[in-house]
Amino acid sequence: MLGGARRRARGALLAASGSAVAGPLERAARRSGARAGVALVYHRVGDPPGDLSRELLPALGSRLFAEQVRYLNDRYRLVPASRLLEAASERRTGDPFPVAITFDDDLRSHVVTAAPILARAGAPATFFLTGACLRGPHRFWWERLQEACDRGIDLSPLGIAGPGADVHELGRAVEALPARRIDELDAALRGLAGPDPEDAGLRAEHVAALAADGFEIGFHTRRHYPLLGLTAAALDAATAEGLAELEEAAGARLTTIAYPHGRADGRVAGAARAAGFGAGFTGAPGPVTPESDPLLLCRVSPSYASVGELAVDVALAVRSAVSR
Ligand SMILES: [Zn+2]
Repeated sequence: MLGGARRRARGALLAASGSAVAGPLERAARRSGARAGVALVYHRVGDPPGDLSRELLPALGSRLFAEQVRYLNDRYRLVPASRLLEAASERRTGDPFPVAITFDDDLRSHVVTAAPILARAGAPATFFLTGACLRGPHRFWWERLQEACDRGIDLSPLGIAGPGADVHELGRAVEALPARRIDELDAALRGLAGPDPEDAGLRAEHVAALAADGFEIGFHTRRHYPLLGLTAAALDAATAEGLAELEEAAGARLTTIAYPHGRADGRVAGAARAAGFGAGFTGAPGPVTPESDPLLLCRVSPSYASVGELAVDVALAVRSAVSR
């Protein structure tokens, strides 16, 4: 993880020169027979753009997102997440590398902002959803935590971090808690942040609309617990609970999963495989290659700053597969 100052310096440099650097990298990689692809993990797209320094999940501005999609569509072969490993394995010398655009969490911005931009570009994408808001508004703990922080509410009585902790420190502290404690904390945050706004999350009709527009729906688990700390029984429950309801809304079987908080290991992957999933995505950076475990596929986080930085990050992921 880069520190804030280093990340901003890298971002500024690559905003100016990233596309010029990435072009030759990507073209050189394309001349190789490397069998590789890249998955990207987006969250909220919308305006005004958010601020990574004080938001857990800031919005990526719609104009920047549209420019990133256009860049990826020009240089790479966009595929749904379920097809990425196969597309990487089939790649031949000279072919563009396959890239999967994916989204996590049940955000209204998926249907309002991201999907129309993707549709205009003719770009496929995969939305990993929990299904927690199919019937009514629902926010997850990090959204309530963000609101409480934005409103300047003192969270030290919750006992998760010392006074003066910023939203990122608080977020990391909550993620490290056992599932039962997260539920208790969520209830406390609900009291502090107030009721969920009417437009929070995706209803069944929104999921159906995404599917009808040709987008792929994947599973993100109903309760979004960090999976690494769960018992075997809780892990089996997490890969099954709410799945049928989300499949009904999507009108299709869901074969692809993205693990909450991007974290999984061999045990989590085994549970996902046993539950019938064919592809599983983490948040670990890196390329997808034929040697990847299909249930532990990497995803690269796209730049919040520029097309240039995204271009370099994708090209570097591809190049790392060439030099293996
Ligand atoms: Zn998530």
